[in-house]
Amino acid sequence: MDIYATLGICPIINAAGTLTRLGGTLMLPEVKAAMLQASEALVPIETLEAAASSAISRICGSEAGYVVSGAAAGLTLAAAASMVGLDVVKMGELPFPVGVPDEIIICRSHRNSYDHAFRAAGARLVEVGVSDRHTGAGVREVEPWEIEAAICGKTAAIAYTAGPGAYPPLPSVTALGKKYNIPVIVDAAAQLPPPSNLRRFVSEGADLVVFSGGKALRGPQGTGILAGTRELIASIALQHLDMDVTFEIWDPPRTLIPKERLKGAPRHGLGRGFKVSKEQIAGAIVALEHFTEARCRQDAANWHHLLDRIESGLQGAAGITMSRKAPRDPLGFPLLDIGISEADLGKRACDVAAGLRADPPPIYVGETRLMEGVVTIHPANLTEKTADLIVQRLQAVLA
Ligand SMILES: *Cc1c(COP(=O)(O)O)cnc(C)c1O
Repeated sequence: MDIYATLGICPIINAAGTLTRLGGTLMLPEVKAAMLQASEALVPIETLEAAASSAISRICGSEAGYVVSGAAAGLTLAAAASMVGLDVVKMGELPFPVGVPDEIIICRSHRNSYDHAFRAAGARLVEVGVSDRHTGAGVREVEPWEIEAAICGKTAAIAYTAGPGAYPPLPSVTALGKKYNIPVIVDAAAQLPPPSNLRRFVSEGADLVVFSGGKALRGPQGTGILAGTRELIASIALQHLDMDVTFEIWDPPRTLIPKERLKGAPRHGLGRGFKVSKEQIAGAIVALEHFTEARCRQDAANWHHLLDRIESGLQGAAGITMSRKAPRDPLGFPLLDIGISEADLGKRACDVAAGLRADPPPIYVGETRLMEGVVTIHPANLTEKTADLIVQRLQAVLA
């Protein structure tokens, strides 16, 4: 860790998960090797993206694919593509397009902080449904007819946040998309593992699916993988690539960009600021190639083993209760919830979490249930060594 030491930074133990804020995950050795190789020669980025497209389409079952600088950047570009298509004039107008559909329908219960990324392209979110289930005041989730009722001439796309139990079922939403010829954009940034999800949303009819390259995929942290239709991916490529080209001699791979259908070369698009390097694109492809059932089965077994180790290490500790949350899919992330009894310990879960960060190396735990008095251990970034350290440090903080 020389570079971090040089910078005066102490690396952390991340028991919080694949969080971007905490460095995501560690890249696979194969990814690092690919990035190093890619750094030793120059290639046109559009050619490399065309190769990425064919790899992504093979792996995800989509018509095409693209590597961007994160899932959030992918959402912004998806919004841009669904508003302007291959119209190079309209591309130049974003994020203030004139006279094009600019509404993205989203279920109220699907809203989240990342949907700002759609608005960054100039799209306006149109919310449908009522969050009955989430307020505890009702029994019904949002229903497809409520989405259908919001579709009008200004609709550019329907946004869908994927997740275990997401409602309405994606196929009922993509059926509406097909009926009205409106693309459905699926935010599946953190829906890996299981690896079957790489194909699932495309096979359920999504027009564009966004995955984070820097989470469970263990690709470069600053990448996102898009799988989608040839048309949307072409628009995304045109709005993302550096477009300082001479149109007459510009010869983009036709599998990525249908040059013949363009009035001319667009100027730098909305996504020009979401640049990805040749190293990142190469790394993302290799990460995707390695996200196999076999590897995920091995990883899952290791995660269960690590949580077992922590659970047995803490067995009998006073003032805590432990419960394991099994993932819905056997290849998903298992979690260990540690309930902190304030009555017994005189400490809240927040104090315990803060205490774990107080000494080097700081240990970061999952915060999703912190305010309910629960510290969560996420195994994605743990090893036997760090698991044992978590046990020791937790015992010290609890004492
Ligand atoms: C992490 C995440 C994103 C953003 O992914 P990046 O690759 O960090 O840009 C978007 N949406 C959801 C639901 C996420 O969990």
